[in-house]
Amino acid sequence: MADSVRETVQAKTADMVSMRRALHAMPELGFEETQTAAYIAERLTAAGLEVHTGIGETGVVGVLEGASDGPSLMVRADIDGLPIIEKTGLDFAATNGAMHACGHDGHITMALAAAEMLAGMKEQLKGRLIFAFQPAEEIVSGALAMERDGMFDRWKADRVIGTHLWNQLPTGFVGVNRGTVFASADAVRIEVTGKGGHGAMPHLTIDPVATAAQIVSTAQTIISREVSPNEMGVVTFGQIHGGSAPNVIADTVVVEGTVRAYKPEVREQIFDAIKRITSNVAGAMRGSASFEQLYGAPPVINNPEVASWTAGIAAQVAGEDNVDEADPVSVGDDMAEFLNRIPGTYFLVGAAKDGTEGHHNARFDFNEDCLPIGAEIFVRSALDFLK
Ligand SMILES: [Zn+2]
Ligand SMILES: [Zn+2]
Repeated sequence: MADSVRETVQAKTADMVSMRRALHAMPELGFEETQTAAYIAERLTAAGLEVHTGIGETGVVGVLEGASDGPSLMVRADIDGLPIIEKTGLDFAATNGAMHACGHDGHITMALAAAEMLAGMKEQLKGRLIFAFQPAEEIVSGALAMERDGMFDRWKADRVIGTHLWNQLPTGFVGVNRGTVFASADAVRIEVTGKGGHGAMPHLTIDPVATAAQIVSTAQTIISREVSPNEMGVVTFGQIHGGSAPNVIADTVVVEGTVRAYKPEVREQIFDAIKRITSNVAGAMRGSASFEQLYGAPPVINNPEVASWTAGIAAQVAGEDNVDEADPVSVGDDMAEFLNRIPGTYFLVGAAKDGTEGHHNARFDFNEDCLPIGAEIFVRSALDFLK
């Protein structure tokens, strides 16, 4: 059977490449993936799956029932692009002002190809496969939107798997971590309120620019002085807005940043510290400040037992020597919401390609040889779990 799976995947590879290129040329931003969702729904329907659209606005769920009862496996793929003007020069580059600069076109392809191949192997399956095509990963909103539309209640799964292709890892390599894969990803918004006035008479004002500067620099001591040296954490303030002229002291300043951590408890520790520093520093400087945690995803943490199972499947596909733990990456991904509800694995499929830049760059691209690897892991996982 092992060989027949490989043959099926090889026979599907040309179709996967053309699917990926078609999707690459039509990137859509989070919750705007209408064309993409229609493409997915059409192919799933043609393959004979039961298709549900509008799950989480533009999300799509495809259900494949096996020949008899058994466990359920969910396969999750994210489907959105980024607001980046593509500069790859590829024949199939997007021209609509958005870009699949994270490889989600590859994720859709691998999951869709697996669904189509498995539909042809239905008699071998005892149980149910649920393909969850999730919108709006890049704005970490799509997983919870699907939950609000009842996805986790309507389609109960015993395990969930998903992949992110990763062009910083060699093509042919598969990273399967028994624990943390990606960090939490949250944003903070701080509004510092002072009292505006003449820049030449600061004693009559409360300067929110000076206060914001103290908050930003004091917050940098959270990682260096408060979080254990054994833990990972990031506090980055990417935006400060305030003031209207060099000689005018503003009333307010807005500071926005991002927070990352590999552990839920460190995530909370950092937030508590930013909040404490914000209000106390502002108070010490006679001003006030509000603190808001804007949105976020928890860290992406695999279930160790399910990850061991996935590593075994990946070894059948890529070879024992090409499967290993990967260094966790400080990016976020709302696959975390799936993994917090269903034991599962998010594995990384290496996709390095010479002459390209990393994820979220206008010159990002990946090696399409990764597509059959990810798709074959999905297919073999389904055949093994539903055997
Ligand atoms: Zn991304
Ligand atoms: Zn991504």
